[in-house]
Amino acid sequence: MTEPLAPQYDPSQIEAPLYTWWQERGFFRPEAMGPDAEPYVIVMPPPNVTAELHVGHGLNNTVQDVLIRFERMRGRAALWIPGTDHAGIATQNVVERLLAKEGQTRFDLGREAFVERVWEYVNRTGARILEQLKAIGCSADWTRTYFTLDPDLSRAVREVFVRLYEEGLVYRGHYIINWCPRCLTALSNEEAEKEETDGSLWHLRYPLADGSGHLTIATTRPETMLGDVAVAVHPQDERYRRLIGRELRLPVVDRLIPIIGDEAVDPQFGSGAVKVTPAHDPTDFEIGRRHGLPSIDVMTPEARMSLAAPDRYQGLDRYDARKRVVEEFEQLGLLEKVERHRHAVGHCYRCDTVIEPRLSEQWFVKMEPLAGAALAKYRDGTLQFIPERRGDDYERWLTGIRDWCISRQLWWGHRIPVWYCEAERCARLTVSRTDVKACPACGGAVRQDDDVLDTWFSSWLVPFSSLGWPDRTPDLATYYPGHTLVSAPEILFFWVSRMIMSGLQFMGDVPYTRMYLHGTVRDAQHRKMSKSLGNGIDPLEVVERYGADALRYSLVSGMTVGTDVILDPNDLETSFGPGRNFANKLWNAGRFILSNLGGPPRPLAGSAKNVVRRDDLTLADRWIIARCDSTVREATEAYERFRLNEAAAAVYRFIWSDLADWYIEQIKPRLYGDVPGGDVARAVAAQTFDVALRLLHPVMPFVTETLWKRFPGRAEQASIAIAPWPRPDSRAVDPDALRDFGLVQEVIGAIRAIRAEYGVQPGQAVRAVVSQDGGRIPAAIQRERATISRLAKVSELRIGEPTERVGGHAVLSDGTAVFVPLGDAIDVGRECDRLGGEVERLLKMVDAQERKLGNEQFISRAPADVVERERQKLATWREQREVLVRKRELLGCNGE
Ligand SMILES: [Zn+2]
Ligand SMILES: [Zn+2]
Repeated sequence: MTEPLAPQYDPSQIEAPLYTWWQERGFFRPEAMGPDAEPYVIVMPPPNVTAELHVGHGLNNTVQDVLIRFERMRGRAALWIPGTDHAGIATQNVVERLLAKEGQTRFDLGREAFVERVWEYVNRTGARILEQLKAIGCSADWTRTYFTLDPDLSRAVREVFVRLYEEGLVYRGHYIINWCPRCLTALSNEEAEKEETDGSLWHLRYPLADGSGHLTIATTRPETMLGDVAVAVHPQDERYRRLIGRELRLPVVDRLIPIIGDEAVDPQFGSGAVKVTPAHDPTDFEIGRRHGLPSIDVMTPEARMSLAAPDRYQGLDRYDARKRVVEEFEQLGLLEKVERHRHAVGHCYRCDTVIEPRLSEQWFVKMEPLAGAALAKYRDGTLQFIPERRGDDYERWLTGIRDWCISRQLWWGHRIPVWYCEAERCARLTVSRTDVKACPACGGAVRQDDDVLDTWFSSWLVPFSSLGWPDRTPDLATYYPGHTLVSAPEILFFWVSRMIMSGLQFMGDVPYTRMYLHGTVRDAQHRKMSKSLGNGIDPLEVVERYGADALRYSLVSGMTVGTDVILDPNDLETSFGPGRNFANKLWNAGRFILSNLGGPPRPLAGSAKNVVRRDDLTLADRWIIARCDSTVREATEAYERFRLNEAAAAVYRFIWSDLADWYIEQIKPRLYGDVPGGDVARAVAAQTFDVALRLLHPVMPFVTETLWKRFPGRAEQASIAIAPWPRPDSRAVDPDALRDFGLVQEVIGAIRAIRAEYGVQPGQAVRAVVSQDGGRIPAAIQRERATISRLAKVSELRIGEPTERVGGHAVLSDGTAVFVPLGDAIDVGRECDRLGGEVERLLKMVDAQERKLGNEQFISRAPADVVERERQKLATWREQREVLVRKRELLGCNGE
């Protein structure tokens, strides 16, 4: 650790060994903070066990790590619980695709062998994503990693199912559910993603049985008419009232069906008469139940027409059947019209197949009783959403909540703990925490329910199941409830809200009180990054090229609360340049300060004999100490309020501008021994740099730790990861120093600007005159003449009125005027010529533009915004010309 720092910052040499060291030292375990530390807990949204780290995980986990590291440094027993999700449907699909390549289906293997195969796959590839999270610096407690299919968590799942069943909150029922004909499983409403789709609305005529006319119904899915059992109208609808009770002859199928009256029919929609297909539509299912109508399921699980359809339809795919039904109606002269129709169609969230509403027997959770408590905790202010508007989404979902379909016709997952007696006369159903071998009623053989539970039925428990529930473990007592949840808004309903319900139901308390829902990472065209669009950024590639700190800084600095992060994958350079450049700047500043320290610096406070006294401090010292203190306040508040980008910006400003560009430059003569006070300058530089590193550590953990550990006198085992968070210091507050040094900066800035504007060579010294109305010059400028002269390269700084006319001048915010005579600093003749040329050029441009805008044809034909843009160009060029003309005057170019 004692060899000098490399001249270039090289994250690839530093990050991995440092991470290993942190982990070995146990800093990521909450126990590292001592037995009395107050816990702070975040549960990681478990990535799918088969997932590869993408930039969305990168953002989500960086945010969590920033918060965990911040609270850890504030002395909290910070626990970040990592884990992975078995992701039933997603993982099963992955393995099924692999099998398909071998020409097999899961049915060829059979259930047991298939599940075996999935485990094998998961054990081989799984949890790689957790290793990838380590590469971006995540300080989760890996000793507490969970997997939602672990025995402990599976026990919790069973316990919850049984308890809910016993309380009447889990039930089995025949309902219309969302069915994926490709995955061959039911899906919850949340998993059936609605997409606006261009479709058609077919208007079909159903003739009255007695031949006295017809009714017209409209449908977007004509093939389902094969399962129609009635046509319904509103009972108060004057057009149809008299028809209620009469019969229609269902075309194609040639079946008689009744006309019924039901309040659920909207007389305003279409013709006001609707077909009733109880097996294929949720509303129709309810109507059918009210009127005691049969359900005719005309489709197979694969969405082909079933044996219940007419012979010529059996086995046809739903879309082929649709075509054929429409053709037959046309031939019969019963197709009234076809309209274009845009409507929302459900798609499987895993394979994007169009959902088929299907009647089947499934398990459900009664949600209303659970939602009530979760809503109350929001309304009484216990739960806080960041950004606040997400609370409205939460409230809306909970108030309109529907029962949760939790059974899935999959093999990979928690099998439903229900056993059916096979003896026909008994047929007893047993719900049990432990496996059932024989029927408790008749002793007969039993068969376990074939289905598994929705993946989210295990992940909605992780805030307590990951801590050992249903056992009362010490971890559960210490770390439940947690504090913050960091998530993408997409899983607000799937996961975030359901965890609140399960926490209240089973632990009697919400699992966290603050929910930070961050934005999405998008490309330059604001499109979501995805594999299929090929517009993603691979976070691991960024780590490899620029380091984890650069990735993290760019993600954090690009996010404002609740809005998306825009990164350009076509230009990794510009997207991650700021982070990499900042790491380099920090490295260079650190190398300079550390190499100039020599030994441990004098303390700035305390009772040590060599403590730096207030009187020893120069204006620049007092200024940087005050700036450091206000940065502590600003950054701390920003981290607390989840404004991570503002925290990063505050520290960036302090390190880049205040410390590196100003303070270090200002103290060089003292450091080099040209003037006395080197030890004080070293003490102040060391102290403020130490504070800055700690403020930045949550965002850029690797580079800050590397530099921090190199301070002379630092204990070998010390780590910035558990170093105390900087506190504001009232003694550091110094408005006078901020104002005075600020003025010195302004003077220097003004002289530098004039030098640049008139092309003064960098090596060329200039003279400068500072004056103010009434001749009162701020004392700070008088005292800091040496600083001004050195940093603005001024050979002679005169206080008073300028005696020359040729030169550049500026007026500062407090009215102080700065004049830089240029007669002897530049070749005035040449500069006059250069400016003259520029004026000429602008003059021509202005002329041409005036002609263009004077052209009636152009003005009348071009769009208004184009004309406006051209006008603005003209105004800008005129202005630029004025400035140059004025500059020429100041230089006396016209021989005045
Ligand atoms: Zn699917
Ligand atoms: Zn039995």
